[in-house]
This record gives sequence, structure tokens and C-alpha cells, in this order.
Amino acid sequence: MPALLDPVLDLLMLRGTVTATEPIAARMRRLRIEGDALAGLEVRPGQQVRVLVGGGLTRRTYSVWRYEPAGAVELCVLDHPGAGPGARWGRTAELGDQVRLGRPEGSFVLRRDAAHHVFVGEETACVAFGAMLAALPQDARVSGCVETSTAADRLPLAHADRLDWQKRGGTSLPEAVRRLAPGPGGVAYVAGEARTVQAVRQVLVREAGWDRRAVLTKPFWAPGRRGLE
Ligand SMILES: Cc1cc2nc3c(=O)[nH]c(=O)nc-3n(C[C@H](O)[C@H](O)[C@H](O)COP(=O)(O)OP(=O)(O)OC[C@H]3O[C@@H](n4cnc5c(N)ncnc54)[C@H](O)[C@@H]3O)c2cc1C
Repeated sequence: MPALLDPVLDLLMLRGTVTATEPIAARMRRLRIEGDALAGLEVRPGQQVRVLVGGGLTRRTYSVWRYEPAGAVELCVLDHPGAGPGARWGRTAELGDQVRLGRPEGSFVLRRDAAHHVFVGEETACVAFGAMLAALPQDARVSGCVETSTAADRLPLAHADRLDWQKRGGTSLPEAVRRLAPGPGGVAYVAGEARTVQAVRQVLVREAGWDRRAVLTKPFWAPGRRGLE
């Protein structure tokens, strides 16, 4: 990235350094980014940050997996078959790399006071779900359906034993939600591939009688489209 853009980017974005990386699931890498600018941010469970990737002028969006107010943001990036600049960044980021990221944002967030919480999504959605589930008390009412390519693609989530885990290629997510038939009255969080998100929303609203305002949806990616935000 041209150095002359640095002052402008410093005004618009926060700066951090990659201080840890680990494979957290078969195709997912956890990146820990630390920096003084990342201290004391307001982060609600489920929110995302925009990151400059691919040499610094392309933006991709990632859910905050974990936040430490002392100044650490953790992201988990999936290495998918059509890898664009985002997946390539996730795959190759090394200790000491500088990262520019935006402030946490978004309204796909945990509603702490909900009577019950229903989570539906796939690998990428699990990052946001991880932050949300970790913020719920042990006795929270939790259910949901999560699809991954293989069992090794599962992220370590709090309350994981209360979720129905599906293997891709078997029961589709909309069908799994139809079978789960969660009763209305709680909040549903539905994220991941765009068309699946819409199909699951329809099952909840049209078939299971959910109020559309109680179904929070967020498309994270769509086949053939680049960098949804
Ligand atoms: C609010 C929000 C939160 C997100 N959180 C995360 C997160 O925590 N972790 C994460 O890994 N991603 C997350 N994403 C998706 C992320 O922003 C990128 O879209 C993703 O990393 C792909 O970027 P890319 O540059 O590799 O591919 P792109 O250049 O954006 O896309 C190239 C092609 O790859 C394919 N593709 C993209 N994503 C996938 C996928 N997941 N599986 C299969 N094929 C795919 C599509 O066909 C696409 O057209 C989130 C997106 C949003 C909007």
C-alpha cells in the first residue's frame, strides 16, 4: 500500500499487529491482533470489523470472535475453495504483520434479554455465534442448527451440545430448522450463505409463526459475489 495513504488511513481505521495465529478448525485460522488503538472499544457480541486485505486496499468483513478491552481483537477466517483476497489473507497472515481494521459495527448482535436464542448458520456464521454464545449464561435457553462441511470444521462454541450439527450434503439447513421447529417467542440469529439465510427466514416466519422482527439475518457471502459487508 502506498505510504502516502498512511495518514488518511490512520484517520479512518485502527491499526494493530498480528500477535498469534492458530488453526482453530480444519479450514479456519484464528488471528489475534493487538494494538493500543484497539483498547477500550465498544464491542457487542456478534459485531464485525472491516479489515484491509490483499496489500491494503481491499476490504473484507469479519466477525469478532473474541475481544479483550486491553487491546486485542480475535478473528477466525475460513479458507474456502474460491479463495479471494480475504481467505488468502487469513491463510497467510504472519506474526508481526500490520493490520488496519475499522471499528466494530453492525446490528447482528445478541439480544441478551430474549427468552430463548436460536442459532442457524454455517462455518463463517459460527464466528459471530461463538461471541454471542460465550456471552450467554449457563442456564440460557439455546437451540439451533449448524452446518459444516465435516466435523473437523466445527468451531469450539459455548453451549455447543445444545445445537444440532449437520454435515453439508445431508439435510439442508432450512429442512433442519423445519424439523427442529423452534417455537416463537425468542430471538433467532441466521447468518451465512445469502440464499440459505433467506430460506431459513421463510421457514421461521411463514411456517413456524415467528415475528419477522425476532429473526435477525445477516448474509455473509453469496456464490459469485465478492466481499459482502
Ligand atoms: C457481517 C459479516 C461477517 C463475516 N464474518 C466472517 C468470519 O467471521 N469469518 C469468515 O471467514 N468470513 C466472514 N465473512 C465473510 C468474509 O467477509 C468474506 O466474504 C470471505 O472471507 C470471502 O472473502 P474472499 O476475499 O476470500 O472471497 P471473495 O472475493 O469475497 O469471493 C470470491 C468467491 O468465493 C466464494 N466464497 C466466499 N465466501 C465463501 C465461503 N464462506 N464458503 C464458500 N465459498 C465462499 C464465493 O463464490 C465468492 O464469489 C463475513 C461477512 C460478513 C458480511
